[in-house]
Amino acid sequence: MDARRWLGSVGGGVKSSFVENRSILSFDEYVQVFFDAPRLQARSAAQLLRDVLEHFGTADRETPVGPVRRWRLFDLAFDPDGRAFRVAGQEEVQAALARAVGNFVRAGRVNKLLLLHGPNGSAKSSIVGALFRAMEAYSRTREGALYRYHWVFPSERKVKGGGAVGFGSRPDGGELASFAHLEGEAIDARLACPMKDHPLLLVPKAERRRLLEERCRPSARDGAREEDFVLSDILLEGEPCHYCRQIHDALLGAYQGDWLKVLRHVQVERFYVSARYQQAAVTVEPQLSVDAAYRQVTADRSAAALPPALHALSLYEPVGPLVAANRGIIEYSDLLKRPPETFKYLLGTSETGRVSLDNLLLHLDVVFVASANEKQLAGFKESADFPSFKGRLELVRVPYLRRFSVEKEIYDQQITVASVGKHVAPHATEVAALWAVLTRLKRPIPDRYSGELRSLVEDLVPLEKLRLYDAGSAPDRLSFAQARELRARAGDLYRESDVYPNYEGRTGASAREIKTALLNAAQVAEQRCLTPAAVLAELEAICRDRSVHDFLQQEVVDGYHDHEEFVRVAEAECLDGIEEEIRDSMGLVSESQYRELFARYVTLVSHWVKGEKVKNRITGEYEPPDEGRMVEFEKIVVPPGEDRPTFRRGLIGAVGAFRLDHPDSTEIDYVAIFPDLFRRLRDHYFEERKRQLRRSREDVLRYLSDGRAGLDERARRQVEDTLRAMRERYGYCEHCAQDAILFLMRRRYEG
Ligand SMILES: [Zn+2]
Ligand SMILES: [Zn+2]
Repeated sequence: MDARRWLGSVGGGVKSSFVENRSILSFDEYVQVFFDAPRLQARSAAQLLRDVLEHFGTADRETPVGPVRRWRLFDLAFDPDGRAFRVAGQEEVQAALARAVGNFVRAGRVNKLLLLHGPNGSAKSSIVGALFRAMEAYSRTREGALYRYHWVFPSERKVKGGGAVGFGSRPDGGELASFAHLEGEAIDARLACPMKDHPLLLVPKAERRRLLEERCRPSARDGAREEDFVLSDILLEGEPCHYCRQIHDALLGAYQGDWLKVLRHVQVERFYVSARYQQAAVTVEPQLSVDAAYRQVTADRSAAALPPALHALSLYEPVGPLVAANRGIIEYSDLLKRPPETFKYLLGTSETGRVSLDNLLLHLDVVFVASANEKQLAGFKESADFPSFKGRLELVRVPYLRRFSVEKEIYDQQITVASVGKHVAPHATEVAALWAVLTRLKRPIPDRYSGELRSLVEDLVPLEKLRLYDAGSAPDRLSFAQARELRARAGDLYRESDVYPNYEGRTGASAREIKTALLNAAQVAEQRCLTPAAVLAELEAICRDRSVHDFLQQEVVDGYHDHEEFVRVAEAECLDGIEEEIRDSMGLVSESQYRELFARYVTLVSHWVKGEKVKNRITGEYEPPDEGRMVEFEKIVVPPGEDRPTFRRGLIGAVGAFRLDHPDSTEIDYVAIFPDLFRRLRDHYFEERKRQLRRSREDVLRYLSDGRAGLDERARRQVEDTLRAMRERYGYCEHCAQDAILFLMRRRYEG
């Protein structure tokens, strides 16, 4: 294909999507767009944001600490490189934001500043970043189309020579022509509305209100309810910015009051939200303290080309982040680092939708979001300014995550071969996430519970609390009934300190610090992979930096906040995992064998509970379920002291509950229902085979350290099978397989 044809085809594609997206319109063409979809076009920034939240949908999920609703936009699945910016967890924050935005929509205006507050490095800015990206994506869809307007002035020559200039003549032969579609040389000057204001603001207020009410409010016969669409103050009461007002009035004067002639100069253009180009998605850093100002438009070439009617004007245009953010979101990052007088103007917006700054009046259509850490917020609450702000703030708390697997998602997304330049070994991100969450947990308050639960809560150690939040698993030492009781109250434990100033999730290691630790661990040159051992060494290093990290100075209470000990806890968990994987990869007793054993036991017990007889496969006789076999199995899995009949009934109850919860699943996932029982089962067989395991491990090490010649054929094949299983089932490469085995030997089987 030759170059010209290729360019031609690309150009054709661009052109057709340009036309398809209706990028440039005359004013009357825009009015048609409005007529076609009045409720989409009459949206304010808050209504747009509400629709963005809805557009990507929600998903409801059960967790051990209660049901959550996730707003899918925070997954950033629509964004090719959004994966790394995905917001893990924080569903409560999402719900609070959706609620607040819904309130703005119902009120018809943005009457509060959304203040995201939490400890340093909780996901505050990522949450706003996700909103930005979602706004960007939505503004590129058909229903998300946004329009702004410009003033265009045709060249004198064209107008005089051509007579009837432009397009859009009315079918009735009237003289509504437009300069909107003139191209290149035919246009002498194009002045953009600096606010990206809504084109309908050009319609005089009274007519605009009538138009909006007639088109956007459904009539009763449509069966729709009035409250379905709330007209926003900005569309009803807003006015063109001062800059556009000057141009408008000058043109109106020049045309002796002929408004339609003024509109010929209006060019409506579709625009797209863009954080990079600061279009309707703008972040203000704390050091920047002028949010909007006036700037005189200098008499450049285009100003010289303006029609005579405009020459007399000295045009001032508003500039600054507040202006750039109009029609979208503005984010004040670390708002409270600034002196209150620099953002006092925000108080006015909730009353009038206008901002008055340095004699400058702006009608804004923008959602205000700010972030602050807890210390700054606490300080602000003490300040003399706080009482006036109090009613204008919507406080949204963004704590650290407390569910381990959700925390791990963050690191799994961001710590990859691509980002660290080496293979990420199994358990590397896991130990990091485990430690991070352990540092954040608070000792539960037993006095809030009664009866037996009180002592269960009292005895809960940090790792047990972590597991309860994460997987709803109760400590092994508990009986069935106790475990069930504790699980049922996991949500209460989780929300126990929500109302306290020092809530759980306020202190501890931040994901940002942990990410740095992971990146540092990846720098260890001797290691070919990023290994859990290297990560644990970094976590230990953090523990030594007491003066750097506030949370390390907390007092240890009943094992809570014992951050150095948590490194050892994380290590032990990791070693357990490695051990299990190696054991399984060596094929000693396979996972499917455990499942089979278990399923057979459940069948026996189920007959026993129902008092049924079982057919003896050999004799064909019906007889009671084999008590001996049940007891044999129970010796392995039933916690000591547990009453056997109670255990059996509890077991069948749990299986029944699983069936109720999963009516569609044909298979019962015993491992998921009874993780603790499976652990005991594995441990039991492991003890029996310890010696065999040890020898196999040594074979693997000899094989990997190039002593494969010293192994006989059978041993060598076994090692190769083991390594393959470690790779395929658990994601080890040859290097970290060796590291893992050495790590395990050194920590558990030597000295
Ligand atoms: Zn304007
Ligand atoms: Zn590796």
